[in-house]
Amino acid sequence: MAEGDSIRRLAGRLGAAFAGRVTVAASARAFAGDRLLEVVPVGKHLLMRFAGGFTVHSHLRMQGAWRQHRPGWRPSARSVRPVMWFDFGAAGVLAAHEMPVLEILATADEQRVVGHLGPDILAGDWPERLPTAAAAVGAQPARLIRSALLDQRNVCGIGNLWAVEGLFIAGVWPHTPAGDVDAVKVLELVGRMMRLGLRQGTQSTTGNLRRGQTHWVYGRYRRPCRRCGTPVAFTAAGADPYARETWWCPFCQPAPLG
Ligand SMILES: [Zn+2]
Repeated sequence: MAEGDSIRRLAGRLGAAFAGRVTVAASARAFAGDRLLEVVPVGKHLLMRFAGGFTVHSHLRMQGAWRQHRPGWRPSARSVRPVMWFDFGAAGVLAAHEMPVLEILATADEQRVVGHLGPDILAGDWPERLPTAAAAVGAQPARLIRSALLDQRNVCGIGNLWAVEGLFIAGVWPHTPAGDVDAVKVLELVGRMMRLGLRQGTQSTTGNLRRGQTHWVYGRYRRPCRRCGTPVAFTAAGADPYARETWWCPFCQPAPLG
């Protein structure tokens, strides 16, 4: 899943393979002979900065992919055509497939596409910026915590998997108004979980890597809670664009009384 941790891993992989290299050809002619300086993750956004002063901005959402192809690779008539590609000679070809958000902009204008984002939960400055993110989450006290955590303007990089699992571990009912939640505590917890996942290269929240055992409640509707055995509950996506589908344990994450 393209959450902040997987985007950060992808940026690391692409940077290691291609940063510092010059393209011998590219689907957009402006990039032919240009040097890729760095690949920078910002939340779930990816910025590829080129020496020529342009940045390729992408967001994978559910289906997009940056793929590495063998040296000399070109899209064939039979294959699904990439929307953009860069040929880095002996290092291979980097191509964007089914990318829902993909644009070229001046590096100096990057704020236009990432300036609205809140603090990045996986960035180095997260400990100092956590209070800002927590204040933003609490700024709309009636909004449900499950939506407030996913609104990338409050804090960026958290995807639904980490929000759902983080709320389970924190024992917080996902429909609790954000104003009634200790946002610092929840954000600290989610940040720790995501960093651990990033280091270990997994999105397992249970610590168990076996298939079907990696999550506490995510995707487990009606199955027994791993902690107490109560059937896991589910709510479909809501009207708030950040209210994604949600799973929780009615016993471990009880709704407040009254
Ligand atoms: Zn439970």
